[in-house]
Amino acid sequence: MVKAVVGVNWGDEGKGKITDTLAEKADIVIRFQGGANAGHTIVNDYGKFALHLLPSGVFHQDIVNILGNGVAFDIDKFVNEMADITSKGVPEPNIMISDRIQVMMPYHILFDTLEEERLAGKSFGSTKSGIAPFYSDKFAKIGWQINEFFQDDDVLMEKINRVADIKDAVLINLYHKEGIDRKGLLNWIKERRDKVKPYLKDVSLYLDKALKENKTVLLEGQLGTMKDPDHGIYPMVTSSSPIAGYGAIGAGIPPYEIKEIVAVTKAYSSAVGAGAFVSEVFGDEAVSLRNHGGDGGEYGATTGRPRRVGWYDLVASKYGCRLQGATDVAFTVLDDLGYLDEIPVCVAYELDGKEITDFPVTKDLERCKPVYKVFKGWKCDIRGIKNYEDLPQETKDYVEFIEEKLGYPITIISNGPAREDIIYRKSPLK
Ligand code: GDP
Ligand code: MG
Repeated sequence: MVKAVVGVNWGDEGKGKITDTLAEKADIVIRFQGGANAGHTIVNDYGKFALHLLPSGVFHQDIVNILGNGVAFDIDKFVNEMADITSKGVPEPNIMISDRIQVMMPYHILFDTLEEERLAGKSFGSTKSGIAPFYSDKFAKIGWQINEFFQDDDVLMEKINRVADIKDAVLINLYHKEGIDRKGLLNWIKERRDKVKPYLKDVSLYLDKALKENKTVLLEGQLGTMKDPDHGIYPMVTSSSPIAGYGAIGAGIPPYEIKEIVAVTKAYSSAVGAGAFVSEVFGDEAVSLRNHGGDGGEYGATTGRPRRVGWYDLVASKYGCRLQGATDVAFTVLDDLGYLDEIPVCVAYELDGKEITDFPVTKDLERCKPVYKVFKGWKCDIRGIKNYEDLPQETKDYVEFIEEKLGYPITIISNGPAREDIIYRKSPLK
């Protein structure tokens, strides 16, 4: 059985925590898209970790953690992250990497950095992890599948020359830099390929067998619907699809195997990078929400940048759940709202004098203003509560209103950053 854990909004909804928690009952966890630009925060018995590339199942020794073919594979970051977690006492995880995964090359990171500099104030707010240049090359058919690294020098050099001819044209003429060091790139490949060789496997074949043996597989998404290149706030999006349906491609499994889609959404909103964010708040209100947010404030797990924050956005979230195909909604970070006297929820957008509740295309989104309904706060700490019935009435009112308007069942509530801070609930919608 395959279950996907995916983001409803702009990312940072708490997918890492939910994946780590659900991994207790899984056999395999697989990342199917994105790369080391992810930041999944996990708090467990080993401590607090921000995972960037490794799947969030690595803290469970009895499960297999896979980097699927859809991931942007940064070898150095992979090696460093493995060393980092093991140095903090986590036993060596069981890792498998698709032999069709493509490799993040040093020039991808260079191009990402140079382009952000060139765009200056108009930049996308990239994490400069090389993601956009990587996926552009993949679809322009000049990417590197890891298996290609295991070829003779002359074959490798031929491809390096072919790619570098294209890259140099831009490096020299647009960015006024030196061309690619081609011999250096050959050495770069040869220095790294043996480090990853033991992990490489025909992952889709392995998963086919695992599914026939009734194993439970978790597909772990990065970012969320709003960052999807097709359905998100294009062009302020990421370069691979964070939608559950793409899990079939990025892992190499049949789409009909995905039986459950846990769509993760936070009890307020946060976003990183540029782009329209209708329910964003500013000033002191934003500072309080940011500092109360997440586990120790809403600051990027990869970059440390302060995240943009705002109230819960039902218009965006209903759309996000629909595109993900949510069978279950995990509603997270609810505990952090306990400080508020009143909690606004964005129930509609005002667009050119009309109220709308269906998420518009980006060009219209820019002109949308939030329409709020205000809820009474519960003014207490709800961490430690294990049963839904034991939550304050105001908290239940908040959850049930959002559930009804979303139209998708909230079956999981996260009321703290740790594994045990979780409430499973029977939803009337299910
Ligand atoms: P991801 O990218 O979706 O995995 O989310 P991040 O880890 O980037 O951001 C979520 C933040 O919220 C992290 O700081 C988590 O530790 C924290 N977090 C997750 N669930 C909860 C929760 O229920 N309560 C609180 N207080 N923090 C949470
Ligand atoms: Mg994150």
